[in-house]
Amino acid sequence: MTKNKGRASWRCIVLIKPVPDPALFGKLRLDPDTMLLRRDEVPSVLDPLDRGAIEAALGLRRRHGGKVAVITMAPPSASEQLLEALALGCDRAFLLTDKAFAGADTLATARTLAAGVRKAGRFDLVLCGAWSADGSTAQVGPQLAELLGLPDLVCASGVELRGGKVRAQCLRERGTALLEASRPAVVTVHAGSDAPRLAPLGGLPAALRSKVTVWSARDLGLKPGQVGLAGSPTRMLNVFVPSAARKGELLQGTADEVASQLLDRLRHERLLPTTAKGGSR
Ligand SMILES: Cc1cc2nc3c(=O)[nH]c(=O)nc-3n(C[C@H](O)[C@H](O)[C@H](O)COP(=O)(O)OP(=O)(O)OC[C@H]3O[C@@H](n4cnc5c(N)ncnc54)[C@H](O)[C@@H]3O)c2cc1C
Repeated sequence: MTKNKGRASWRCIVLIKPVPDPALFGKLRLDPDTMLLRRDEVPSVLDPLDRGAIEAALGLRRRHGGKVAVITMAPPSASEQLLEALALGCDRAFLLTDKAFAGADTLATARTLAAGVRKAGRFDLVLCGAWSADGSTAQVGPQLAELLGLPDLVCASGVELRGGKVRAQCLRERGTALLEASRPAVVTVHAGSDAPRLAPLGGLPAALRSKVTVWSARDLGLKPGQVGLAGSPTRMLNVFVPSAARKGELLQGTADEVASQLLDRLRHERLLPTTAKGGSR
């Protein structure tokens, strides 16, 4: 294989999710009837970690050549975030949109995205955010890997290609692990070594000349029972905003008495382990 041919043939797909602008999260309200967020009250933006995934993909393209496509499952208004991804330099954009997709839980979301990824053609890598700014379940990437029958590297940063493999630093409970998987693979990104930036001048006019490919459930070969609420095993039983009431209390006495009262109170609230009085610690 010639060097140029190798560079042009590498393909990456980035999953992007439009989310309510995190800077305006304080204004988000829950609809008490549908138990869903009133997303129409706050403008949507490209999920910050997905922006990092795009930068990671574009960084790999700078170093190894190839093509980068973006896919979202979202209402038609998501064309805006797809155009932004094209303006940032992505080569193709796919919008999976259908009324039947509404109410999808993470499994139905991953199933729909998996169908879109398969239909988009040959790929070497799928990149997505490790977790979204709004739902934050961190389930979609691993579920997608399972549905596609691919290895996954989760909570990754510093993604690199090495021969037929992909390598990344992956966050673990304690520290990070350098992991490697054969390609194709799914990588969920929590931070990139390529810092997110604004779209370059001239990026938007070029993006506006590009065409976003739109696919419905039928185009993806998915039946009504596989997508949206009907295809979702999760049922939302209740959703509420936790109240954060505070109660101040003044402890009286000498410093030793106040310290002792405080320790007793913390043990009573089970915030500290109880120890036998006078026992050694
Ligand atoms: C019963 C139920 C009903 C719901 N109904 C709705 C609803 O009507 N409308 C609604 O908007 N949400 C709804 N949700 C929320 C919906 O399940 C999540 O938005 C979605 O499944 C993704 O979950 P997450 O945000 O936790 O993903 P995470 O796993 O935290 O996301 C990780 C990454 O996966 C990728 N990703 C996630 N979702 C998408 C997507 N749609 N397109 C492309 N990439 C994606 C992104 O790269 C993201 O950074 C519902 C959830 C439940 C449980």
